[in-house]
Amino acid sequence: MRAIVVGSGAGGATAARELATRGAEVVVLDAGARFVPFTRRVGATEPLRRAGLLGSERNVSRFIPAYRTARSSEDLVLVRSIAVGGCTVVSCGNMVRAVEGLGDIGLDLTPEFDELEARIGIRAVPRERWRPLTAGMFNAAREMGLDPRPTPKAVDMERCTSCGLCEVGCPNGARWDSRRFLGEAVRAGCAVRPEAEVKRVVLDGGRAVGVQVLSGGRLEMVRGDAIVLAAGGIGTAQVLRASGIAPSDTLWADLVLTIGGRSKGARQLEEPPMVWFSQRDGYIISPYLDVLSHWFHRPWRSVGVKDRVGVMVKLAEAANGRVLEDGTVVKPVDEEDRERLRRASDEVREMMSAAGVQGPFVDGLLHGGHLGGTVPLRREDVDGMRPSILPPGLWVADLSLLPRSQGLPTMLTAAALAMRVSRRII
Ligand SMILES: Cc1cc2nc3c(=O)[nH]c(=O)nc-3n(C[C@H](O)[C@H](O)[C@H](O)COP(=O)(O)OP(=O)(O)OC[C@H]3O[C@@H](n4cnc5c(N)ncnc54)[C@H](O)[C@@H]3O)c2cc1C
Repeated sequence: MRAIVVGSGAGGATAARELATRGAEVVVLDAGARFVPFTRRVGATEPLRRAGLLGSERNVSRFIPAYRTARSSEDLVLVRSIAVGGCTVVSCGNMVRAVEGLGDIGLDLTPEFDELEARIGIRAVPRERWRPLTAGMFNAAREMGLDPRPTPKAVDMERCTSCGLCEVGCPNGARWDSRRFLGEAVRAGCAVRPEAEVKRVVLDGGRAVGVQVLSGGRLEMVRGDAIVLAAGGIGTAQVLRASGIAPSDTLWADLVLTIGGRSKGARQLEEPPMVWFSQRDGYIISPYLDVLSHWFHRPWRSVGVKDRVGVMVKLAEAANGRVLEDGTVVKPVDEEDRERLRRASDEVREMMSAAGVQGPFVDGLLHGGHLGGTVPLRREDVDGMRPSILPPGLWVADLSLLPRSQGLPTMLTAAALAMRVSRRII
């Protein structure tokens, strides 16, 4: 069997590994180039930042070419990484089982989670690597009954230098990303083609028989017996729409709002991001110096990087986004979600104050980077792991399949879904 996997993020790389190691001939097509991490010191950008010369968040791709940001409504920025490794190369390495809504459709991914966790190696950041203020906020959260706990991470702490910047790429290879699975797929014979953007699925007699690819300025057709879309919540929906198959207008992104305070000499970047988290009802809170807000959000400009303290709210929101054929996304934030965000950030401010963080507390840039839900699985699809809108020969193996927003890290779930789908394909 010849399989074409479109995308090499959490879903695509897992699918490629599963298929290639089980004897399929696999080619991975990714629109992005090979990833290069940002290795300069963040401190070096301070004079430009303070003077407001970094411009808007769109300029983040000048620092890290893989980053793509887009305003999907007036105040919501969607973030993704177009690169070999997808969004996993800019992740914080948090690894949790995000299963919101899976029980409703009768999907239990426990065997896949067990297998992936054992393969990747998950552990927490040891307490002695936490900054004192982060430990203080943990204690304050505990006293408020927020039940904080160390975050499970896919980070090798012996190689991690605590630069605090997992999300601009790990220069030391300490943080797991999906290129490890891709490497295993390549050793099993899989071919990987970077800078190969899939435009549409080619159908013949109602069956998917290949994809049309833009590569090196030329359009070409690549044929396969199984076409596996894993281009992420936006990319997969865009390819489907261009192929005459309507995705669902139910994109979600997990809203991220970081509350910024200040504490002299906090040096929050001298620890890995998000070393602990509190899981609340539909959201988490976690210490996080949000680099997007630090660089590009005007209200955050007056505080230097050594004194800035951030705590994130990551909230599960309504799945209400629509992806258009040109990749534009329209995604409003509804009033109920705004109210939940306000309540969660009040809780964060109280916790920060209790730990001695000073105000003024300033909201960061509202953004979301967990893009899913555009080809949601329904109960009747779970046996075959194939949504019924897909024609024969076509599969989806990424976060698009997950029906609901999680307010939790999503990489492990994207990989678990892809693992189950690939085994069904075989
Ligand atoms: C800054 C940031 C930090 C994050 N941190 C964490 C974290 O710590 N823990 C966690 O669990 N999750 C984290 N996430 C979320 C997580 O990375 C994603 O949910 C997960 O990677 C989704 O997997 P996926 O396979 O659906 O998509 P992706 O990983 O986004 O992969 C999609 C792939 O498709 C490619 N592609 C897109 N369009 C096309 C096309 N037309 N043709 C060919 N290729 C295409 C892309 O280049 C990419 O390689 C983070 C996300 C971001 C943005």
